[in-house]
Amino acid sequence: MQRHADGRLLVPGAAERARIATGSAHADPQRSRFARRAIRAVFRHLVLLTLPLLVFGGGYGGYLLSKHTGIRALAENGERQLELNARAVESEITKYTYLPSLLELESDVERLLLDPSPQRRQRVNDYLEGLNRRSGSLATYILDTSGRVLATSNWRSADSYQGEDLSFRAYFQDAVQGRPGRFYGIGSTTGEPGYYLAHSLEHNGRIIGVGVVKVRLDTLEERWQRAQLEAYVSDENGIIILASNPARRLKAVHPLDAATRERLARSLQYHWWALEELQVLERRALADGLKRISLAGDDASPQHYLAQGRLLNDTPWRLTLLSPLKELRRTAISHGVMVAVAVALLALLLIAWNERRKVIATRLAAREALQQANNELERKIAERTADLRASNDRLKAEIRERRQAEQTLRQAQDELVQAGKLAVIGQMSTSIAHELNQPLAALRTLSGNTVRFLQRGALDTASTNLQAINELVDRMGKITASLRAFARRSDDRGQARLGKAVDAALLLLHPRLQRSRLHLERDYDDLRLAIDQTRLEQILVNLIGNALDALRDQDDRRLWLSGRLEDDLFQFEVRDNGPGMSAEARAHLFEPFFTTKPGEQGLGLGLTLSASLAAAAGGSLGVRHPDEGGIAFVLSLRPLIVHEIACDE
Ligand code: ADP
Repeated sequence: MQRHADGRLLVPGAAERARIATGSAHADPQRSRFARRAIRAVFRHLVLLTLPLLVFGGGYGGYLLSKHTGIRALAENGERQLELNARAVESEITKYTYLPSLLELESDVERLLLDPSPQRRQRVNDYLEGLNRRSGSLATYILDTSGRVLATSNWRSADSYQGEDLSFRAYFQDAVQGRPGRFYGIGSTTGEPGYYLAHSLEHNGRIIGVGVVKVRLDTLEERWQRAQLEAYVSDENGIIILASNPARRLKAVHPLDAATRERLARSLQYHWWALEELQVLERRALADGLKRISLAGDDASPQHYLAQGRLLNDTPWRLTLLSPLKELRRTAISHGVMVAVAVALLALLLIAWNERRKVIATRLAAREALQQANNELERKIAERTADLRASNDRLKAEIRERRQAEQTLRQAQDELVQAGKLAVIGQMSTSIAHELNQPLAALRTLSGNTVRFLQRGALDTASTNLQAINELVDRMGKITASLRAFARRSDDRGQARLGKAVDAALLLLHPRLQRSRLHLERDYDDLRLAIDQTRLEQILVNLIGNALDALRDQDDRRLWLSGRLEDDLFQFEVRDNGPGMSAEARAHLFEPFFTTKPGEQGLGLGLTLSASLAAAAGGSLGVRHPDEGGIAFVLSLRPLIVHEIACDE
């Protein structure tokens, strides 16, 4: 149990008692606080650990999404490009489709086929030369049904086909059987690649020969290169016959088996080309007709493409468009980086927001705690104020009581002082009576004598007697006046003249002084002291009276009255050379009713009253036992400074 500052016991509240009883009330919230803190720390570490994962994941997601949408856009664009270019290739090919069949219309050709002669050949040669120049084809020539070249546009050149046997050519074999011959191949004579279009030439429903036009398609390649388009055309054998990149030309797009290789070698379609396989590092189907392939680039590094293909009309060929994925990949990477940065920024913002939220929460909690502490303080202050007010009231009541007691005491003291005075007067009554009796007796004698002197007419003597009578009456008046003044009630305040007080005391004690015949020494300045005149006189009467009592039984009687200023107090000493006092008397000196005087002589109140009168005036009464014997009573009183005197007067 605790104790208030004012000593009241503090009884513990119900909650407090429960806590003391179980001893666990403190532990539980503390434990849960620890647990909460631990969970928060683990969570914070998890967040910090997962942050890089989140950033990386976000970046990777952004990369994938960008790549996916990029591929879709690229595919759509590729689709359009593919269509456009396929049309371009088709139109390039079909441009020459009817050219071989037109040769049938030329009678010189027919005549040459039916009946060849050098003149006819020359005429047809000239004709074909002109036709070839105008059509822009590579070569135009006529074969007889055995596959021999009868006439050709390039009859002038050294590597002319003239007289050559081209019966092994597939286009001839197709055309001689009435089918249109289409063929891409490399010229066995010129070694020049070209597209061969063959058509049977008929006479009266009978095939008499074959007209062939060889055209160049490399203009398509040039166009692709100019447009920075990557594309190739593969023929029925899967051999690339046209390619924007010359390095890919005459490469097989898929592996060729041995039989096919054999067949192709024999047909000399591709002359003596090795027909290497196109190096596809990776091939992945993405959607219908959409593939992702990686080809070895010029520097053998992989080049990634989106491949889209389409068969060309009227041919077994296939156009493949390659859209590079390099740019797309770069864009996707930058998008991924941007997303990662955005995720990181967002995460940082969230962390910052969370930290700020925590700071605000802490601040709010602190404010709330402060408010609570404030409320608690105010409550305590109110409680303490109430306590203080109560004790203040108690104190006030006590002060009132004390004041009353003090007043009562003061009254009692006054009464006591008065009683003391009266007692002193009582003690002195015998000597006063004696003092008054002497002048009275003298008065009687003097007045009797005066009457006689008057009767005798001795007026001078009578007047001298009357003079003496007057002096005696004055003296008696003084005695009674001082007695009256002594008996008068007085108060704590006021001022006294030291010299006057000593004189009054000595006058009061005059009869005794006279009787004792003591040696009196005075050594003090006549100054004003902060004490009522009568009270000072009363103190001095007590002290001097005691000294006279003490000196009574010895012959050498001395009394010293001296005064000096010491530390702002005036010390007035009443010293006698009497017998001093016993140790017991010293111990009880200032106690009321302590007296060593026999019978009615002493009341034992003189010193007690004197000390209390000195204290009431702000001074004190002490005693000194000089080594040379006797006793010295020291009265310490505050002297009045000049301006105080001036004010009072
Ligand atoms: P009272 O004079 O009525 O006895 P006081 O209070 O004045 O009462 O004094 C108390 C006692 O102190 C005296 O009875 C006396 O024994 C002693 N005393 C006082 N003054 C002196 C002195 N000057 N010399 C010796 N004894 C003294």
